Amino acid sequence: MNELHLYNSLSRKKERFEPVHPPFVGMYVCGPTVYGDGHLGHARPAVTFDVLFRYLKHLGYKVRYVRNVTDVGHLENDADEGEDKIAKKARLEQVEPMEIAQFYTDRYHAVMDRLNCLRPSIEPRATGHIPEQIEMIKTILANGFAYEINGSVYFDVRAYAQNYRYGELSGRENIEELLAGSRELEGQSEKKHPSDFALWKKAGPEHIMQWDSPWGRGFPGWHIECSAMSVKYLGEWCDIHGGGMDLKFPHHEAEIAQTNACLHPKPALNEAKYWLHNNMVTINGQKMGKSLGNFITLDEFFTGKHPLLERAYSPMTIRFFILQSHYRSTLDFSNEALQAAEKGFRRLMHAVALAQSLRPAPVSTFGVQDLKRRLYHALNDDLNTAVCVAELFEAARLVHALDQKTEKLNEEDLNDFVAVLRTFVFDVLGLQNENAEDKSRLDAAVKILIDLRHAARKNKDFATSDAIRDRLKNEARVVLRDTPEATVWTDAE
Ligand SMILES: [Zn+2]
Repeated sequence: MNELHLYNSLSRKKERFEPVHPPFVGMYVCGPTVYGDGHLGHARPAVTFDVLFRYLKHLGYKVRYVRNVTDVGHLENDADEGEDKIAKKARLEQVEPMEIAQFYTDRYHAVMDRLNCLRPSIEPRATGHIPEQIEMIKTILANGFAYEINGSVYFDVRAYAQNYRYGELSGRENIEELLAGSRELEGQSEKKHPSDFALWKKAGPEHIMQWDSPWGRGFPGWHIECSAMSVKYLGEWCDIHGGGMDLKFPHHEAEIAQTNACLHPKPALNEAKYWLHNNMVTINGQKMGKSLGNFITLDEFFTGKHPLLERAYSPMTIRFFILQSHYRSTLDFSNEALQAAEKGFRRLMHAVALAQSLRPAPVSTFGVQDLKRRLYHALNDDLNTAVCVAELFEAARLVHALDQKTEKLNEEDLNDFVAVLRTFVFDVLGLQNENAEDKSRLDAAVKILIDLRHAARKNKDFATSDAIRDRLKNEARVVLRDTPEATVWTDAE
């Protein structure tokens, strides 16, 4: 595949990626609700869309990546009823809701920085966009796709379904069937129809977070913030809208409906051209999530402090573990899988370091272009990082063959080979050497030992020079290699 193809959840097939206004690309990804620590289930969309962001930029697109911070607080029990999660936590901890939101936003940034996820271009907060949400609700009401009852405003799914396909994204197009799956008991709700959802909710005095609106004091519903902020920052039609598969329904379905209802009578735009969904992280076959209480936070992974963890796993081990599977497959947590990922990550880093110490040969015995083509093919095929990583392992095998001189590359090919390897490993997949500072201090210390070894050899003290070499290898996993120009060192595998 010479061009990028992405699996579009709306059409349920892979489509060639063609932005609406090239070379610009608008990408909106649903961000975290900030009332708890980020866990492995949060790392997956963050890493997936970070790789897409990096790859689109690598391909030369000018990308505006918008990821929201949900700080209004979703309500428990699917949006409409129950208590605001952030307000509940604020009450329990006796602080302002905004302190909760700020505290967990900072912590989310800290763990995502450690996973080397680039910060989005814009990170809008829901509480900073209440007027935009109110304006959108007013338009939806004026267009006849919503109704007001007792200070709350609900989206009228049946009115919408007469003009548009509601449920197209999630495949739940039969509203009556939707009802069968609803847990709501008749007569309990003020809504006209159980599949209607809240755009605005009247706030009682017990609600800490509330704002003025044309319908009285209240707060926005769960879904409207993403429609309002996506339209504000990316226009009426953005290129990519991403998120976890669990957001398809009702969240993304509602977003599509709200945006179309607001822009009515324009033809259905579905808010974004390509809808991308990453699959879930599972633990013992069950979705890892806050609501199920079976999650492991990223900090717990980094410190190893969780009963299910045999030990700590570094941020790059977690990133590599996520990259080793395609984003549309489920990713099952286990200590064995993480330890295998750690080994694989080290092997790849070792190969990249070794590649930079290789010397060119007069002729080449294999083509670098073929490797390059396969790496691009992998990512062009719906961002298949699993295949891309497998190709990089093949490149690592070639690095060792070059080091052993069973394969050869001339100067131009070798430079090309090393550049391709570095580009995909560091720039596109976003992996990085961990403990760079420790590494540079180790490098300085090993260089002193190399100098002492040279001095010993000059004095024909071969016992000392051999001891330095052997002890470095056996006790510090540092391998010295004598080349005609100098002595270099690498990590033992
Ligand atoms: Zn969203």
